Order: sequence, then C-alpha cells, then structure tokens
Amino acid sequence: MLLYDSVKKTKLEFKPLIEGKVSLYVCGPTVYDDAHLGHAKSALVFDLLTRVLEAQGYAVTFARNITDIDDKIINKALSSGLSVEQIAHEYTDSYHRDMDALGVRRPTLEPKATESIDAMAEMIQKLLDKKHAYTISNGDIYFDTASDKNYLSLSNRQSNENISRVEKVSEKRCEADFALWKAVHDDSVAFDSPFGLGRPGWHLECSAMIERYLRQGEGKYAIDIHGGGADLLFPHHENEAAQTRCATNHELAAYWMHNGFVTVGGEKMSKSLGNSFFLKDALKAYDGEVLRFYLLSTHYRGDFNFNEEDLIASKKRLDRLYRLKKRLFGLTAEIIETEFKTALLEVLGDDLNVSKAYALIDELIASANEMLDTAPKDKAYRQILLSSLSMIETVLGFGGKNPFEYFQFGIDEETKNKIDTLIEQRSVAKKTKDFAASDTIRDELTALGVGVMDTSEGTFWEMKS
Ligand SMILES: [Zn+2]
Repeated sequence: MLLYDSVKKTKLEFKPLIEGKVSLYVCGPTVYDDAHLGHAKSALVFDLLTRVLEAQGYAVTFARNITDIDDKIINKALSSGLSVEQIAHEYTDSYHRDMDALGVRRPTLEPKATESIDAMAEMIQKLLDKKHAYTISNGDIYFDTASDKNYLSLSNRQSNENISRVEKVSEKRCEADFALWKAVHDDSVAFDSPFGLGRPGWHLECSAMIERYLRQGEGKYAIDIHGGGADLLFPHHENEAAQTRCATNHELAAYWMHNGFVTVGGEKMSKSLGNSFFLKDALKAYDGEVLRFYLLSTHYRGDFNFNEEDLIASKKRLDRLYRLKKRLFGLTAEIIETEFKTALLEVLGDDLNVSKAYALIDELIASANEMLDTAPKDKAYRQILLSSLSMIETVLGFGGKNPFEYFQFGIDEETKNKIDTLIEQRSVAKKTKDFAASDTIRDELTALGVGVMDTSEGTFWEMKS
C-alpha cells in the first residue's frame, strides 16, 4: 500500500508498526451543529482507507473522537436554552445519522472528550513535570512551544510566520503557546482535576486519547496513521504532535494523511462565507449513496468543488451500476477471487486512486452488459461478475442496495403507496386468473409512468424516465 505522507510530502510504502495491524486516528467533529459537506468528505476518505486496508488483510483499529465540550457547544447551549449535554447529544446523534446515510461505518473506538478528562490531566501533568508547560496567574496552563525544538516541523512553517489563530494572553511566554487547560472561576461547565476546576484545551484531546486508547507497542510512534482535513495540519496537528513528543518521548504518528477542502461554487466552504452546505439538506434531495459516490469520485488530496451539475452527472454513472444489478437481480453465487478484485485493490492501494477505480468499474459494467447480451447463460461468468460487484460494495461502499429501491429515491410516499396497492391488486388478479383486471391495472401503472418487473424474488417497479 502506498500512502502520501503530508508531512514528508511524498508517497511512501506503508509499513505498519505491528505486522498485520493498523492503528488509525482521525480527528472527529465538535458537536455543536449539523455536519456539512467538509465533514462528509473527511469521514468518507478515511472510511475508504479503512475498507481498502481491511481488504488487503490488515486488522484496522480506527478511532475517531467526539469533542463534546468546547466553547462553541457552550455558546450554542446558552443561545438555545438547552444544556451542554443536550446540545452535544443532539449533534452527536445527527452526525451519526448523516454519516450512516453515507454508508460511513462507525469507528472501532469513538472516545468522548468529557469521558477522557483524566487522560488529558495525566498528559498535562507530564508536560508540567518536564517543563514543557507552565501555569499563569489565573490558573490556565499553557504549552511552552519554545521548549520543543521540533515545534513547526510538522507543518513546516517558519516560526516568524504570523500565527493568527491563537489567542492573545499577556502572560504567555510566546504568542504561539496554546492552552492545555483553562481554569474556570464562574459557574459555567467545569471538570475537576489536579489543577482545580476547568476545561481542557481542544488540541490536547486527540494526543491524550491516542495515548490512552490507541498506542501500539513501545516504539518510536504511538500509532500508524493520523488523518484529518488539510485545515487541521496547523495549528491542530502541529500542537498534537508537540504535546505527544514532549510528554512521551515518542512521535505521534508514523504517517500523516490530510484530505483537501470542499468548496461550494468555487469558494472554500466556511460558515463565515455563508456557503456552508449541510449534509442533511443534501440528503433530502439525494440518496446517501449518490452523495457517497460523488464525494469519493475525485482524489482525496485535491480540493473538491461541490456543484449540482457534477453531482447529477456522477449519479448517472452510479445508475449504470444499478441498471446492471437489475439485470442480475435475485441471482447469487459463492464469492470467489477475481482479476477485477486484484486490479481494484492495486489502484486503490496506490494512495487511494479512485479515478482509476471508477474507470475499472465503468469497464466492468460495459463488458458485463455485453456478456449478458451475448452469453446470458454463462454460469461461470456470472459468478465472476457477482464476485466483482460484491467487491465494489465491500471496498467502495456502493452498489449494495436493492436496485429497484435505488431508483425509487425521491418518489413521495403517497405515490409509492398508490403504486404498491396497484401492484398488490394486480398480483391478486393474476393469482385468480382474472387477466382482464390484471391488464387493466398494468395499463393504469403504465399511464403513471411505472414499469413493472416480475422476478423470482417478487414484483418490482420503477419509474420510466
Ligand atoms: Zn485532533
């Protein structure tokens, strides 16, 4: 497996810390609002990576955290009149719901910040003991960036670059120093710790969780792969790496992977620009699998320009896969190794080259349709084809739905019920050999634009477009 390491800036042959195992950590959401397309892209990329690694025989432990305590959550709670717990709970649920709809599998571990305070306190204590952290007069604790000679080596920045995203606090030794712990002196949300009541700094969360839940062996690195969106490289990942390095004497991850930005209408998606596109809105208009197929269709390192025109074109490509699945509906076969599987894993094993993977799928569909036209009874071919299609489902996570239901997306419930009732009446008419009634119902369905297909698995319908 070749992976592009965004710190070393080159493609590297992946070698796990422990033979046959992979530890992967991806920064998860801060649960104060609904997930947007940027969240979706990141979740899909690392879902794909996990699936590819598993198909290559690795046992993957994948951790993605939930930041369930943060100023943004507190502000949302204050403005909505709900508790911090209620806000965190609501948006953790909505995150899960949206990602489930995209076919993103849940991680092996999903630690919550509020349940990992002791792991964070332990890391702060180590940093204080080793003089990599200091306390200011109000009780806040800061990481001393000047004490880490490798600080900024991850993002490869110059120390004199303007560090605009850190707060200005007069007692800080250096502008770049960041909070590990914020003391709380009023009645807002606080956790007990050896340093008094307070809340942990956001950067600390991932480092502490990785140490507590995911560390592999005793070697030079805590885990194999750390991933996230490109916007996290600095300062978030830089700070994570510094904390781990200074607290533990080992580096955080052997490989760093970052996915590109999602832009909408050519502009980087951000709340301040007002072009943030919530996933739940996209899911109302499109099947989750259509969005999955589209969002995965370009290479993860490039920026993704979301626009509806491309999405519709992309859907047509996925439709072809489902049309083929219709032709094979109800057929089963024992899954075997195929040349297609080897080829698919080879291209995806090259730093997740999805363009080549999608091209392989296009070719497979074209040749399959041809074979099914010319040699529809070829059982051996059918087994190869069904095995190849099941591989697409396993590794890329699409093509696994009932093809008839896939084409019914977006049809309102009332119409669906009407069609289902007509089909039911037609099957009763057929059973009782009332062919005149059965034909009348069929005509009625045709008038509605519905095509009916009788299979060994039952009767299915689709809208003729
Ligand atoms: Zn993180």
